[in-house]
Amino acid sequence: MPLSPDQLAEIEDQRSTTRQTLRVVAPGMESHLYRVHEVLDHGFIRVVDYMGDDAAICQAARVSYGKGTKSVQGDTGLIRYLMRHAHSTPFEMCEIKLHVKLPLFVARQWIRHRTANVNEYSARYSILDREFYIPARDDLAAQSSINSQGRGDALTDAEAARVLDILKSDAAQCYDHYEEMISDDGKAGLARELARMNLPANIYTQWYWKVDLHNLFHFMALRADAHAQWEIRVYAEAIAAVVADWVPAAYGAFADYRMGGVALSAQAINCVRRMLKGEEVTQENSGMNKREWREFEGVLE
Ligand SMILES: Cc1cc2nc3c(=O)[nH]c(=O)nc-3n(C[C@H](O)[C@H](O)[C@H](O)COP(=O)(O)OP(=O)(O)OC[C@H]3O[C@@H](n4cnc5c(N)ncnc54)[C@H](O)[C@@H]3O)c2cc1C
Repeated sequence: MPLSPDQLAEIEDQRSTTRQTLRVVAPGMESHLYRVHEVLDHGFIRVVDYMGDDAAICQAARVSYGKGTKSVQGDTGLIRYLMRHAHSTPFEMCEIKLHVKLPLFVARQWIRHRTANVNEYSARYSILDREFYIPARDDLAAQSSINSQGRGDALTDAEAARVLDILKSDAAQCYDHYEEMISDDGKAGLARELARMNLPANIYTQWYWKVDLHNLFHFMALRADAHAQWEIRVYAEAIAAVVADWVPAAYGAFADYRMGGVALSAQAINCVRRMLKGEEVTQENSGMNKREWREFEGVLE
């Protein structure tokens, strides 16, 4: 249960208060505003604010005095052109502010995206909740034998049960000690900023994260990708579903050119040209090494 009844009531209160504005409102985003989208066992994302819509991208691209939009077809064409040619600044005119609850080890990957504004829950000031990410049984896998940064086969039932026991008992013991250290209990308890050092990386933290659409697309391209760790990918996918409703034309262009598209090397394009002429191209005569060839085959499949 990621949110307490009080927190849910606060969200409902926010959703029931409407305001008049002259600003642009994206209907698809209004339905997400403040709502919680659950991710992992205790995490979530929720939109707390946003600015702009598809039209704002066109407005900026045309440096317009008014709405800056033309026909839907013309606007979609313009947005696709901007995406195709990496004319990225019009996408920076849209912004999103998210409240995210996530395990520390996911936060550590996420925070590497420097082109965003972050404010994290202070564990110097507040006491962290007893909430740890414990993977579902089916998400426990062995180290991959072909990808040193990835997972391979699922663990057997017995191995999975052993791992889950270790994760749960370590988390419980560390949190018990954390509580014991900060408890004043008539004595001077350890400062929260120090006591937190024994907490494991699967404990949950929270932050507000604000980013513009251009940099959000960059985040999604890296973190909703199959190469990203599954635990961050599910967050990126939850955000992507929201973005698709917020800016459907921009998201469509992103899905087409960035998520669904590939960049080919000059060598790879040369191979495609040779194949189109009917030549039999193999790894040996392609000029690519084995790994490049495997990835190239993956693209063609
Ligand atoms: C699958 C995967 C595996 C990874 N493995 C590792 C790993 O093993 N170890 C590790 O340390 N990291 C790893 N990373 C993190 C990765 O190296 C990047 O730090 C992270 O993806 C953020 O990307 P970014 O710098 O492009 O994003 P952002 O920080 O959001 O920056 C966006 C863009 O802004 C520009 N920019 C921002 N800051 C600067 C700057 N100071 N100087 C120049 N240009 C700047 C760059 O063009 C950059 O692409 C991994 C990431 C992925 C997706």
